[in-house]
Amino acid sequence: MSDLSHIQALVIDLDGVVWRGQTALPGAIEFFEMLTKRKLPYVLATNNAATSPEQVNRRLDLMGIAASPEDVLTSGLASAEFLRQELPPRASIYAIGEDPLINALVKAGFSLAQDANDARAVVVGLDRQVSWEQLAEAALAIQAGALFLGTNPDVTFPVERGLVPGNGALLAALETATGVKPMIIGKPEPHLYLQAIAHLQTGPKHSLAVGDRLETDILGGQRAGMMTALILTGVTQREELLTSPIQPDFVFDDLHQLRHTLLGDSLE
Ligand SMILES: [Mg+2]
Repeated sequence: MSDLSHIQALVIDLDGVVWRGQTALPGAIEFFEMLTKRKLPYVLATNNAATSPEQVNRRLDLMGIAASPEDVLTSGLASAEFLRQELPPRASIYAIGEDPLINALVKAGFSLAQDANDARAVVVGLDRQVSWEQLAEAALAIQAGALFLGTNPDVTFPVERGLVPGNGALLAALETATGVKPMIIGKPEPHLYLQAIAHLQTGPKHSLAVGDRLETDILGGQRAGMMTALILTGVTQREELLTSPIQPDFVFDDLHQLRHTLLGDSLE
């Protein structure tokens, strides 16, 4: 295993790494204390477009973890920033998504289209109130040539009773109806990570992507040219590493172990 001494910043996944539900995972509190103490900059990067930096912050705060909303990058915020670079100011966008995504688009200066007419882009994030009429407008806009953007490709997400349709399922419906593939901003595509690295002002080689999923966090980090660390407190079991084509640079049981390794390497 190569060492972590050249790592200058981290881009950290939340679910399965920092928390599960409302509970901090082992080592999370001490890990953030160490990052603060050693002034190691980081971004908390999540594929969840239905949450806001303020909501993430409140949840961390209740767990005893002090972060700031400026350290949080959701796929919704990253989508708004991506469009800000692609489209003229105040361009009209047809959006499907919950308040955090809508707010991010408005804050980026876009006007929200009420129907397909004149929409320069269609942005789809998870919307737990979505209607057929909205899908129809989105499909019409896409067929008329609007840029088709998905915040994240996750096909399901867990609730207490099992797995329910995620944003990837909404995107699949629109792709089936239009024959157009969405451009994805969240992991495993590199855009979310690339924006995080730009914010941190560290090159990808000096930035560590920390996550619990091989096929999103680790693959996305690799596509962005970063070093990657898999944490085994989430969905991935150690045995899966034996057969997966996606191999992280580092594997840690939990954030305790990553903290110890970071401290050990940087003390050398
Ligand atoms: Mg995760």
